[in-house]
Amino acid sequence: MVIQPKVRGFICTTAHPVGCAKHVQEQIDYVKSQPRVEGPKKVLVIGSSTGYGLASRIAAAFGSGAATLGVCFEKPASDNRTATAGWYNTAAFHEAAKAAGLYAKTINGDAFSDAIKQEVIDIIRSDLGQVDLVIYSLASPRRTHPRTGETFSSVLKPIGKPFTDKTVNFHTGQVSEVSLEPATDEEIRQTVAVMGGEDWDMWMHALNEAGVLADGVMTVAYSYIGPELTKAVYRDGTIGRAKDDLEATAHALTDYLKTRGGRAFVSVNKAVVTQSSSAIPVVPLYMSLLFRVMKDKGLHEGCAEQMYRLFAQRLYGQNEIPVDEAGRIRLDDWEMKEDVQAEVRSLWTQVTTENLLALTDIEGYRSEFMKLFGFGLAGVDYAADVNPDVPFA
Ligand code: NAD
Repeated sequence: MVIQPKVRGFICTTAHPVGCAKHVQEQIDYVKSQPRVEGPKKVLVIGSSTGYGLASRIAAAFGSGAATLGVCFEKPASDNRTATAGWYNTAAFHEAAKAAGLYAKTINGDAFSDAIKQEVIDIIRSDLGQVDLVIYSLASPRRTHPRTGETFSSVLKPIGKPFTDKTVNFHTGQVSEVSLEPATDEEIRQTVAVMGGEDWDMWMHALNEAGVLADGVMTVAYSYIGPELTKAVYRDGTIGRAKDDLEATAHALTDYLKTRGGRAFVSVNKAVVTQSSSAIPVVPLYMSLLFRVMKDKGLHEGCAEQMYRLFAQRLYGQNEIPVDEAGRIRLDDWEMKEDVQAEVRSLWTQVTTENLLALTDIEGYRSEFMKLFGFGLAGVDYAADVNPDVPFA
């Protein structure tokens, strides 16, 4: 079939297998162009198919020659539907890893469930013995609790008072005001249950009890802080509460892993276009300004650059892992630079539908968004007939 993008709001319901493979290859090429990192050897990546998790897997495999086991929740092609982008990304990653002689396997299923945790443990036991790094990079709108069966839904809302500010429809370029009502206590509880640290904690306990964590193991989960502009919807909102919980879990896990010399970190990453971040109100407009300013200053980074920097300049090769006063790794250092934020703030007050193209990098944002689904990549023949049914393994 000839595969065209079908965009609905902040999701594209089709994905292009050749384009996704190209997108993965671009990230691999970036990592391979950088100095090799004396990094991890056997890595479990939970949330391995897109965004920061995929980039972590690429950095581990192609930056350090690591064997990688991934966990993701993706759909294969069926009838007239393409597979999801994460499916095609994973298939492409497997191919590239195989060609490079690297072990790579991926479990597709619900990472929140006990059954998937057990399947992963069994595979580590039989194929790898133990892992020395566990990356936790899930982003999900829902989670079913494995013990109680309760299904939680996360919301992106402010807490305490309503919030009104500018936002952009990044497809049409329409800048408008968005107003959000504050979350209820129940919505806060459910968002923390989905995006907080409980599942990360369950993973690490299950892996440790099964004896599949190497001595000195590290585990890293990802967080975000961001500027004043997005504070009400992000860090002071429901998702921020979940991130507070995730960050507290890192401290608890470091205590828990102490006996085997293990450590748990939260890495605060920069804002990048992913399927999850495009769903947050206000954030796409902020990012289109941020990209403009960071590109002008030669500071722009995507997932691959960020994750390579995490491995090369934070986790490995340092005598001590540099952290902030709260014990967090900071990869948002360039995003949060005072001169970058001052320019973004100034542009924010000026931006309208009419001057959007001139003031922001909305085109860069859109193009990154389409690339997530394998569209708009140079050298891909989008008029060609392609088979959407790509095997995963
Ligand atoms: P993403 O949507 O690109 O990736 C989510 C991953 O989770 C995918 O691999 C998906 O398959 C997997 N997943 C979701 N539900 C699952 C389930 N039930 N079982 C198994 N796998 C499941 O998201 P992302 O933006 O890369 O986010 C990853 C982490 O990075 C999140 O914690 C996010 O808050 C954080 N982060 C993101 C940004 C950003 O700007 N995107 C910035 C800082 C931190």
